[in-house]
Amino acid sequence: MPWRIGEKSKKEQYYRILSEFMLQQTQVKTVIPYFNRFVKKIPSLKSLSNSNEKTVLKLWEGLGYYSRAKNLHKTSKILIKKYNGQIPENYKQLKELPGIGDYTASILLAIIYNHPRIGLDGNVKRVLSRIFNTIPENLNSLFKTKRNGHLAEALMEFGALICKPKDPNCYECRVKNACAYFSTESKKSYSKKIKIKLKNYDIFCYLNKNNKQMALTKSNNLGFLTKLNLPKIKERYKKNKGWKFLCNYKNFISNKKLDINLYYKFSSQIPSQYNWYSLNEKNEFIPSFTKKIFKRVLHLYQ
Ligand code: SF4
Repeated sequence: MPWRIGEKSKKEQYYRILSEFMLQQTQVKTVIPYFNRFVKKIPSLKSLSNSNEKTVLKLWEGLGYYSRAKNLHKTSKILIKKYNGQIPENYKQLKELPGIGDYTASILLAIIYNHPRIGLDGNVKRVLSRIFNTIPENLNSLFKTKRNGHLAEALMEFGALICKPKDPNCYECRVKNACAYFSTESKKSYSKKIKIKLKNYDIFCYLNKNNKQMALTKSNNLGFLTKLNLPKIKERYKKNKGWKFLCNYKNFISNKKLDINLYYKFSSQIPSQYNWYSLNEKNEFIPSFTKKIFKRVLHLYQ
């Protein structure tokens, strides 16, 4: 984002306060072009304080909520006059400035001065209440890092990109194991979905008679278990000529329940995209799904 310039300077402070005013009630992607245009014409807090209100409002045109622009303009004058062009490192003083409320004061202190504060906007409230099942009373307990400003920003971005209002991306989320929402929702959907989805598959194992080996491939294209070392898997098919039936069993994978018929064949010849693996393999690249099959076919060697 263009306002993150990563330096402790007056320019950074100006970029941050300008962007925070613009971001009140407005989305990041809408703000970016307005921000860029604004700083091109008015590159510093000093030049903002010296601009006339008409120019400022013209640059704000289209962003809406014009009181923000007027307040920012007034605030810039106070900052130049009273605070030597610096944003005060004090919550009370910040809140006395036009257009700065609780949220903006907190986020400016966090971002600019690394204070352990969080701007509690809708995104952050949602993230915290999902993870903890409630918004923690003592938010200071969250700051176990020295990068308080980064944490405050990360929480906002995390809410916008991962822990979205609808359809949060829980399966890719790094904190899912600590998240109360994920724990309840996954239990609910797991029991709901497995009742619905029962799929029948045939699995074909090429076995090497002399070496207790099975041929595996990553070329199965099932829409799940992709790019993993597996024997050949196909949706249930009645005629499996040349293969011997070994057993039938059920296997749960995420939201699917698989009904599996397991077939085998001893052969030293295998198709080109297969490789041999020992049935006693402890290899971490063998998924547990395949290891369960290993256990079943091992009986054939006794
Ligand atoms: S697991 Fe889901 S609900 Fe929980 S924090 Fe992550 S994205 Fe949000």
